[in-house]
Amino acid sequence: MSRSAHPAGPRYADVLPEGHYTAPPADLNALDPKVWSRTVTRNADGAVEVGGVDVRSLAAEFGTPAYVLDEDDFRARCRAWREAFGPDADVFYAGKAFLSRAVVRWLHEEGLNLDVCSEGELATALSAGMPAERIALHGNNKSVREIERAVEAGVGRIVLDSFQEIVRVASVAERLGRRQRVQIRVTVGVEAHTHEFIATAHEDQKFGLALADGQAAEAVRRALMLDGLELIGIHSHIGSQIFDTSGFEVAAHRVVGLLKQVRDEHGVELPEIDLGGGLGIAYTSQDDPREPHEIAKALAEIVTRECTAAGLSVPRLSVEPGRAIVGPTAFTLYEVGTIKPLEGLRTYVSVDGGMSDNIRTALYDAEYSVALVSRSSDAEPMLSRVVGKHCESGDIVVRDAFLPADLAPGDLLAVPATGAYCRSMASNYNHALRPPVVVVKDGQARVIVRRETEEDLLRLDIG
Ligand SMILES: *Cc1c(COP(=O)(O)O)cnc(C)c1O
Repeated sequence: MSRSAHPAGPRYADVLPEGHYTAPPADLNALDPKVWSRTVTRNADGAVEVGGVDVRSLAAEFGTPAYVLDEDDFRARCRAWREAFGPDADVFYAGKAFLSRAVVRWLHEEGLNLDVCSEGELATALSAGMPAERIALHGNNKSVREIERAVEAGVGRIVLDSFQEIVRVASVAERLGRRQRVQIRVTVGVEAHTHEFIATAHEDQKFGLALADGQAAEAVRRALMLDGLELIGIHSHIGSQIFDTSGFEVAAHRVVGLLKQVRDEHGVELPEIDLGGGLGIAYTSQDDPREPHEIAKALAEIVTRECTAAGLSVPRLSVEPGRAIVGPTAFTLYEVGTIKPLEGLRTYVSVDGGMSDNIRTALYDAEYSVALVSRSSDAEPMLSRVVGKHCESGDIVVRDAFLPADLAPGDLLAVPATGAYCRSMASNYNHALRPPVVVVKDGQARVIVRRETEEDLLRLDIG
């Protein structure tokens, strides 16, 4: 769905987009395992439980809104990715999706590596004991200070994004007496748009060095000349919420083309290739993501085939899933405040959060599911729009959903698949206090990121 910016703000009084489901689901109480984390069930009372904890007691103890994260599900997804890619590949979790010290410890324990793209993310990773050699630093405008911290800490790789950065990282490394392992991020002319790929000759975007006009090859040439850098490979990231591997196929083909050119021109075979992240998840029952083992098999085959054809030895592969690991592990728990039925249109259901805890719907028309979770209901389905409490008509959490017609203030709703890019993109708009992240496991709940308080807000405002 395309978006057009309008000075009056995002559209809201629209009709259902074409191709959108218009029929209510057969059973409003059903919880599709595709969109809910694996320990989610409805108990004998009709209320939803996760990790053995009833959502009503979570709301009572921690308040709403709250992000509720299923630790077993998170760890299971880490293991699935790790095992799918095996010992000859590396899985880097993209920390920007959601990062906290507990998450860093789980990643460490489950054998994953970690991508960071700021000093704050690096500090979080290091403070929770992630070994520096398992950290990669990304970003299209890393500050000298960020580079220094990363080199000093001894990060496993820095992904170079521009000509300026090649020089910057090399000089920091030389000054610190180090030789920093680096990859060069290239843009391959493939852009993923969820259900389609657009292949272009030129890349109109801020990230990376373009293959097409020779910038990437020139970057390799310069990096190879600098003593402070050890060039270990080429990096490509083609987009997000991708559902099949055809875009990676084109990307791998073009990246291997560059590896071949590098071997021919410089007599060097670069030992690593990173195909980035972007693997999709199910936000609604309509989405059909691939399993990690299918993705791993497809990517390994593509890279092996392309390298064999080019007469190159197969480089070590790495991938960087963020959303595909953490996205499905959490839901946001809200309380219903007001309900406004509009005859013949839809019912607006206002919850106690909104665009401050989930900006994705307003930002790029993301689709979500929602369910009544504090009880079950046999009432008729009612076409609803779940909206937040912010002073913006575009403050929509779930654009179109069916909820039971007996929905009432005080009911709890949960929006699944909010583990990625929700807490990490949360804001204080309207001076909202950012919600906590509550982890559930084996009948126990604990806070890993606490709710913001008014004191937190006022502490920054020094008057
Ligand atoms: C955002 C990003 C990722 C992770 O994307 P997901 O859609 O969360 O998998 C991985 N690598 C790079 C370079 C990114 O910018």
